[in-house]
Amino acid sequence: MKKIAFFCIPAHGHTNPMLPVAAELVKRGHSVRFYSFDEFREKIKAAGAEFVSCDRFLPELTKKEEKKLMSVSTTEMTIQDIRTTLKMNDFLEKEFTDFKPDVIYTDSVCFWGKLNARKFDIPMVCSTSTFAFNQMSSKYMKLSKGELSDMIFGLPKISKELKTLEPFGYHVKSAMSLVQNDNHTDTVVYTSRSFQPYAESFSDHYAFVGPSVFSKLSPNKEKERPLVYISLGTVINDRPDFYRKCTEALKDINADVIISYGRYMDKKLLGKLPGNVQAFPYVDQLEVLSKADAFITHCGMNSVSESLYMATPLVLYPQTNEQRAVAKRAEEKGAGVVLSDDSTEGIKKAVTEILENPSYAAAAKEICNDFRSCTGVEGAADFIENAPHTSNGVDLLAEVNKGNKWFHMCYWLIVCALIVLFGVFVSWKYFWIIGAAAGILSYPISTVFWKKRYDKTVKKLFDKLPE
Ligand code: UDP
Repeated sequence: MKKIAFFCIPAHGHTNPMLPVAAELVKRGHSVRFYSFDEFREKIKAAGAEFVSCDRFLPELTKKEEKKLMSVSTTEMTIQDIRTTLKMNDFLEKEFTDFKPDVIYTDSVCFWGKLNARKFDIPMVCSTSTFAFNQMSSKYMKLSKGELSDMIFGLPKISKELKTLEPFGYHVKSAMSLVQNDNHTDTVVYTSRSFQPYAESFSDHYAFVGPSVFSKLSPNKEKERPLVYISLGTVINDRPDFYRKCTEALKDINADVIISYGRYMDKKLLGKLPGNVQAFPYVDQLEVLSKADAFITHCGMNSVSESLYMATPLVLYPQTNEQRAVAKRAEEKGAGVVLSDDSTEGIKKAVTEILENPSYAAAAKEICNDFRSCTGVEGAADFIENAPHTSNGVDLLAEVNKGNKWFHMCYWLIVCALIVLFGVFVSWKYFWIIGAAAGILSYPISTVFWKKRYDKTVKKLFDKLPE
């Protein structure tokens, strides 16, 4: 029997999928020690694992830092992750010497779990509660202006913070190398291979075990008239303006509507509800989704997975870059429409489209079947039990990147040749215009080249087209 150490950041969306995996490993007779935070104590104990409280290692936050974390600033989260790692250093050094884990199962953005696994050379499996993100699939994340400026201006701060890790034996090349998934790390992903964008670019070190949804319910859409469900999740859901627009948009359609408006908002802010609309601070979402015919969602990974698990098509209203990636994939798979116009008319149009065009429900049903055929918790537990894994050696990303290097070399050689020709035959005064244009065009051109090369490599290595 193995000793397995679990690590996670203090977040429900990241911790919840790991709990049933812990329970399964305990059931199989392994000893599971879960390093987590007091708010998860009961759930972890209920899973049968040993709970180790790490609250005292969370850095004290200034008001400004707290505000940034609330607004989901990637820079601030990275900095606080690094600081927590340092605060935990002595404690974990002692723990690892005493407990001597055989395997570490750590959330993929929990730096202290990942860095200590490497430092103590213990087999590690990462848990990824969203899609797996590498240089290909991260193209699905369209950053907003705010997110982009947070990342650009945050980079120097993060580099400075990363340097503090080195003296403690944590060797980190860049922040990207810490958060992105690479093709050498054993990783469990809670979605199916076919729902994962660019799934072929992930090596055999990945186990796509299907969404972490636990419900005995099956989709049951039999009822007098359609049901529309609305929720913006549990984090940024304080949007009375949006819920009011939804009720206005849907008050006259032949459907029932359920709104989950969150635990922090006053119901009075919704105004008088039309006869076909009911609103609650929290609902049993899986139960509602099993009956629903359309779901207006903020596109949290859990909500979208649960919806598709219950064969419910989606009106996609993403608010963050990660949610935009989930929305894009659901739309690409034909299971939803993105709500680009969130006016009353826009909402009505999107919901009507989902309810009246059967192709969305059919696509959702197909994904539902795919999700339900995944290996699930047992698959994740098998993967952790048998870590470390070997790969069949196929690294599609490395192949694509080889071609990319050649492309960039040829591209810039041609640009240099053009500059020289322009200088010699026209004028040396304006040669910089060619350089600037080449710089601007290099990204879109290389993206097209990249995509073509990706498709070709998938065909060559797997004899099929990308999913
Ligand atoms: N949820 C629920 N009832 C509600 C609203 C939300 O059970 O009324 C659950 C939902 O089933 C999902 C989670 O809260 O598992 C929301 O997770 P998600 O990743 O979608 O969004 P987040 O809240 O993290 O933004």
